Amino acid sequence: MLKILIVIFLSCISFSGITGEKISEISEQYVRLVLALGEHDAAYVDAYYGPKQWALAAKENKITLGSIITASNQLIDQLQLLNADTEMSKLRFSYLKAQLSALNARALMLTGDMALDFDAQSRALYNTEAPHHKLVEFEQTLKQLDQLLPGEQSLVEKVNLFNQQFIIPKEKVAEVFDIAIAECKARTQLFVDLPDIENFKLEFVSNKPWSGYNWYKGGAFSLIQVNTEHPISISRAIDLGCHEGYPGHHTYNALLEANLVNKRGWKEFTVYPLFSPQSLIAEGSANYGIEMAFPGEQKTQFEKDKLFPIAGIDPSLAEKYHQFSLLTDKLKYTGNEVARKYLNKDINKQQAIDLLQHYSLMSQEKASQRIDFLNAYGAYVINYNWGKDMVKRWVESGKDQSQEGRWKRFSKLLSSPRLPSTLN
Ligand SMILES: [Zn+2]
Repeated sequence: MLKILIVIFLSCISFSGITGEKISEISEQYVRLVLALGEHDAAYVDAYYGPKQWALAAKENKITLGSIITASNQLIDQLQLLNADTEMSKLRFSYLKAQLSALNARALMLTGDMALDFDAQSRALYNTEAPHHKLVEFEQTLKQLDQLLPGEQSLVEKVNLFNQQFIIPKEKVAEVFDIAIAECKARTQLFVDLPDIENFKLEFVSNKPWSGYNWYKGGAFSLIQVNTEHPISISRAIDLGCHEGYPGHHTYNALLEANLVNKRGWKEFTVYPLFSPQSLIAEGSANYGIEMAFPGEQKTQFEKDKLFPIAGIDPSLAEKYHQFSLLTDKLKYTGNEVARKYLNKDINKQQAIDLLQHYSLMSQEKASQRIDFLNAYGAYVINYNWGKDMVKRWVESGKDQSQEGRWKRFSKLLSSPRLPSTLN
């Protein structure tokens, strides 16, 4: 009996040893494949801070898309043979499978052999499909906004006029952003264990298809860029401060690095492929993070008390601005519907711009910027609103719904290899 037990025990050790070795090997091959695909698609590798020689090898020994497709299929097959013995390894294996499957799809898209419509692209790259809405469902909200804003002009004109009262003067942008980000950080730090060395640099740029970007460099450091090409509304200061910084992208990347790369040695997290399921968690948590840091009316209150005075905005407008924001927030899925129609080629560029102006109430220039974004990033847009709703649902389905309880669940999400399909 004892002999049998010893044999079973030894075989368990050797099995988990082999699994451990195998998964490390798959993890390294995955990173190398992401870097290899990055050589075919400049936007693909959003962040990499793993071994420098791997990046160099990808550059020097470029491999074809065909080889990348074959290799990713082989790695997926190898993963199927592994048995996860803990909750974390289960999540890790699912993560690698989903990331590799998205990498495979992205490579196929780049060969031109696979043309995917909006929803098929969402499923292939982001492991989920955003809900469908009819644009007519949003008419009621447009009517309410029309009543909120007096005047005879079209609604989009009234919205643009209204928004102009909340533009941060160019010379005040840096000061407003510094204060906003510091507040986002202070609120996040109350509940999240940030690495001691974490840090970021803020830069203002122009000529980009996005309004803000976080470039994670590793070592808990981010370069955060804010696009000042178009006028920036005051509410964007906290939105971007939370989204790009705390508890958004910078925090997410720093926690993954600290908990998964440094503590566990999981190399796959040293690379972040943009067109992958990880983006849904990244964008979703970054957007939900605004509500985490500023629940209820706290954002409006902070803007009114601290940011309006610096930007020279009349604080008595704060309440109306809040109501306006609540209504415009209800229109967030209109952007997905227009993107779906445009990317499926059901409408042309001008029709898409017209719809974005009518339903998403974007100015002409913002609508054009959105088209640039869609051309560059495809179905990526679902990661913002649908990603936020998925993250919100997961965090708010936790047993403990106190502020501490929600932050705990949120931090768990930011520190573990969870993806849309494992978000239950
Ligand atoms: Zn983002």
